[in-house]
Amino acid sequence: MSASDIVESQEHQDLRAAVAAFARSYGRDYLTRALGAGEPPSELWREAGELGYLGVSIPEEYGGGGGGISELALVLEELGAAGSPLLMMVVSPAICATVIARFGTEAQKRAWLPGLADGSRVMAFGITEPDAGSNSHRITTTAHRDGGDWVLTGRKVFISGVDLADAVLVVGRTADARSGRLKPCLFLVPTDAPGFTRTPIAMELKAAEKQFELTLDDVRLPADALVGDEDAGLLQLFAGLNPERVMTAAFAIGMGRYALGRAVAYARERTVWKTPIGAHQAIAHPLAQAHIELELARLMTRRAAALYDAGDDIGAGEAANMAKYAAAEACAHAVDQSVHTLGGNGLTAEFQLASLLTASRVARIAPVSREMILNYVSHQTLGLPKSY
Ligand SMILES: Cc1cc2nc3c(=O)[nH]c(=O)nc-3n(C[C@H](O)[C@H](O)[C@H](O)COP(=O)(O)OP(=O)(O)OC[C@H]3O[C@@H](n4cnc5c(N)ncnc54)[C@H](O)[C@@H]3O)c2cc1C
Repeated sequence: MSASDIVESQEHQDLRAAVAAFARSYGRDYLTRALGAGEPPSELWREAGELGYLGVSIPEEYGGGGGGISELALVLEELGAAGSPLLMMVVSPAICATVIARFGTEAQKRAWLPGLADGSRVMAFGITEPDAGSNSHRITTTAHRDGGDWVLTGRKVFISGVDLADAVLVVGRTADARSGRLKPCLFLVPTDAPGFTRTPIAMELKAAEKQFELTLDDVRLPADALVGDEDAGLLQLFAGLNPERVMTAAFAIGMGRYALGRAVAYARERTVWKTPIGAHQAIAHPLAQAHIELELARLMTRRAAALYDAGDDIGAGEAANMAKYAAAEACAHAVDQSVHTLGGNGLTAEFQLASLLTASRVARIAPVSREMILNYVSHQTLGLPKSY
C-alpha cells in the first residue's frame, strides 16, 4: 500500500473542503423541506452538477472533471456528512457513466456523458428482479434480436429514481448463439419507451428518491441500445458494480458522520446531572467507537476507490465489498448510538434523527447484502467451501 492510499492528497482535501462548504449551504433543512413536499432534491442536484461535482469522475473530453471514483466518493461522503446526500450519485454517474465511458461506443459517450456529467440527464440502473435479488445469476429479463432491433422482456424491482431518469441501464440476458446459455448484457432503455412501465413501491424509508417496480413488455430497442460487447457482459457489469459498492460505502459513511456530529453536539450541551451527558463514559465511549469505525471504513473505501481508479478491477472487487460491509456496519452503529444519545429527543420530529434508523439499514441490504459479502470473503478470500 502506498502512502497516497493512506494520506489524502492536498487536491482531495481541497475538494473535500469545497464540497463540504457547498453542502452546508443546503444541509439537512433543505432535504427535510424536499421530503416534506414529496419532491426530489432538484436544486441541490442541479447546482452540484453545474459546479462539476456530479461529473468529477467522467472524462474531460465528455464534459467531466477527468478524475475517478475516489473523487466522486469523496463528493458523496461530504454531501452526506452535511445531511443532504444524493442517492442518485450512486447510480447515474458512478455506475452508468462509468460503464458507458469504459465500454460504450463513441456515439453513446457523446450522447450521454456530457448530460450525466452536468446532471442535466439522469440514468437509473436495474438489475434486481422479484426472483433474483441476492442471486443475480437468476435474472430472467431477456433480450432477443428482431431484425436490427432488440426486444426486451422482464420485470425489475427496487429500482431507484426511475421518475427522475431519462433512461435505465437494464441488465438483461441474451442467448449465446453457440451454447444457448443466457449471458448478461447491458441495455440503455429510455423511460418513455413503449412497453416500459414503472410503479412506485411504497417504502417505509424516508428518502427523497423513490423505488420502482418495472415491467418491460416487449420493449423494442435499436441495435445501439446495447452497451459494450455482447460477449463480455460480466466484466462490464462489474466495472459498474464495484463503483456502486464504493459509493454506497461513501453514502453510509456520510450518513454516519452526520448522525454522529448531531449526537456529539447534543452530548456536549445536554446536562441532567452536574456535567454534560458527554462526560459520562457510557455516552462518550460508544460515540468514540462509532467515530473509529467510520474512520476505518473510510480508509478501506479510499483503498477500494484507489484500486479501481488504478485499473485493478479484481483487487477493487474485494476491497469494495469489504469497504461496503465496514461502512454499512459503521453507519448502522453510529446512527443507533446517535439516536440513543439524544434520549427522548432522538425520537422527535424536531431533531429528525430517528428516520435515519431506517435509512441506515439500506447499505446493509443494497446493492449487495451483508451476508453476501461475508459469503464472498469466505469463498474468494479465505477459500472456504460454498453451501449454495
Ligand atoms: C432503498 C433501496 C434501493 C435499491 N435500489 C436499487 C436499484 O437502483 N437498482 C437495483 O437493481 N436494485 C436496487 N435495490 C435492490 C437491492 O440491490 C436488493 O434489495 C438486494 O440485492 C437484496 O436482494 P433482495 O431484496 O431480493 O433480498 P434477498 O436476496 O431475498 O435476501 C433476503 C435476505 O436473505 C439473505 N440471503 C440471501 N441469500 C443468502 C445466502 N446465500 N447466504 C446467506 N444469506 C443470504 C440476504 O442477505 C438478505 O438478508 C435497492 C434496494 C433498496 C432497499
